[in-house]
Amino acid sequence: MNNLKTLILLFCLITAFSVSAQNKTQIIAHRGYWNTEYSSQNSLKSLEKAHDIKVYGSEFDVHMTADGVLVIFHDDRIDGRRVQDLNYADLKKVRLLNGEKLPTLEAYLKKGKKMDGLKLIFELKSHATPEKNREAARKSVEMVEKMGLSDRTEYITFNLDAAKEFVRISPQTPVYYLNGELSPVQLKELGFAGLDYHINVMKKNPQWFKEAKSLGLKINIWTVNDPAVIKEFMDLGADFITTDTPVEALKVVK
Ligand code: MG
Repeated sequence: MNNLKTLILLFCLITAFSVSAQNKTQIIAHRGYWNTEYSSQNSLKSLEKAHDIKVYGSEFDVHMTADGVLVIFHDDRIDGRRVQDLNYADLKKVRLLNGEKLPTLEAYLKKGKKMDGLKLIFELKSHATPEKNREAARKSVEMVEKMGLSDRTEYITFNLDAAKEFVRISPQTPVYYLNGELSPVQLKELGFAGLDYHINVMKKNPQWFKEAKSLGLKINIWTVNDPAVIKEFMDLGADFITTDTPVEALKVVK
């Protein structure tokens, strides 16, 4: 009888372990791990720091300049001028808060290539027209493929034209939609890997956790910095949490 009890207990433990392993929430550093010494948002250093702390992925923002160069920067404007209206030559002297040059996508991916195992969470920003959005998506995929990083990259974007273009030309690479208005069923129909939605969108639509799971879609939530809320979303089955506080978030999910 005791042996049977031990066996049942063992079985329950193994099942619990495998379920928790399947449901493990992964952490993505929002704009790299920037909230630390010598780093700043979207810098090469922030990518290196994200790699050092062993997060799943490091997110970064990509704009295309007027002359078609892909650069890493978050805001729409630098010194009051739109990044997308400038030529790359106008950006060469820009320095980030940690003193680095504003990186090109090429420089960023070269650095990323050395950060073995780290996923590159590539956010393409919205551009002025549907054509520009598709062109920026095509140039992005070209560069990622040239660098041999397709299997380490995941595309995210608020722009539906860009998102559809990513799915069309790079169907093997996961594409996530950020804008929040599409249901899991609609995302699945469009060929996306999942949703990457704002914390309040998921709070308003708690049924989307179950729906996304049943469709085999992954769930990423941004930007979650409060450990208690990270825990809450982890328990609801979030696959990824995008956060400005990756070190604290790692402690929660571990
Ligand atoms: Mg971003």
